Amino acid sequence: MTKTLTHDTLRAFCATSHSLKDKVILVTGAGDGIGRAVALAYAQAGATVLLLGKNLNKLETLYDEIEGQQLATPAIVQMDLKTANFDSMQAIAQLVHQEFGRLDGILHNAGILGALTPLSMYDPITFHEVMTINAHAPFMLTQALLPLLQVGPSASVVFTTSGASHPKPRAFWGAYALSKQMLEGMSEIFTQETQHHTNLRFNCINPGATRTNMRAHAFPGEDPNTLKTPEEILNVYLALMSDISIDVKGQIIDCQPKTPQHKQKT
Ligand code: NDP
Repeated sequence: MTKTLTHDTLRAFCATSHSLKDKVILVTGAGDGIGRAVALAYAQAGATVLLLGKNLNKLETLYDEIEGQQLATPAIVQMDLKTANFDSMQAIAQLVHQEFGRLDGILHNAGILGALTPLSMYDPITFHEVMTINAHAPFMLTQALLPLLQVGPSASVVFTTSGASHPKPRAFWGAYALSKQMLEGMSEIFTQETQHHTNLRFNCINPGATRTNMRAHAFPGEDPNTLKTPEEILNVYLALMSDISIDVKGQIIDCQPKTPQHKQKT
């Protein structure tokens, strides 16, 4: 495991309009919440962003916003990760190959909460759905896109984890916590399997408690004004796609330092 930058350095990263210039980056769950804010920030930092999500209206609204700011023209990849199979992932790889010839980064951000209930009562169908969207889809997508990630000099793959799984899985968070544990394991295994003979890097981000629909669903009684907005937690997301982090591998990085009032994280 290589670690040349401290996590505080990544949290303090200040992107410019050239930080991600000419990079091609895929963001899943780009239509809403954290993914939307990050995708826009990547575009503002110079990247061509591939916006993957299931809701076409949301993706088109973001597309128009990026175009309106005269940033690099994005692309929309409409896909429901619940029903997508490996053929669908390979079709994306084929499109990216034809349009761009390479891929410089993937942010695996899409996710669902599932049920907050004891494992003994967890509905198996919901369990399967959460694992499919949160863990199996990122695995298939990464595997299908690996050849394109290896074309450029230093591609970055980022998985999104959570305080519900890190440092250990939390009771009553069921499939969500377990799916995030799988992502942490996936990042670690990919790191071990690639670090000596490729320039790829794999890391996990834990955004921490952030003002989104998912957070509101998980903590309905919470005042959202006490939480950071997605726009306030972007530094680590930008740093991990930029070239300053080319030696950062196999890390789990918290966007928000832990404070007493933010102990509970989704
Ligand atoms: P939101 O619910 O606001 O956004 C989730 C995104 O995932 C949406 O864009 C949604 O698309 C997309 N998505 C969900 N299901 C699918 C699907 N089947 N196919 C394609 N896309 C899908 O959540 P957040 O922004 O809060 O969460 C983003 C990530 O951050 C998640 O991985 C979450 O686990 C993680 N996280 C969030 C925390 C928080 O406090 N907010 C804390 C810790 C981790 P659509 O809008 O079309 O449904």
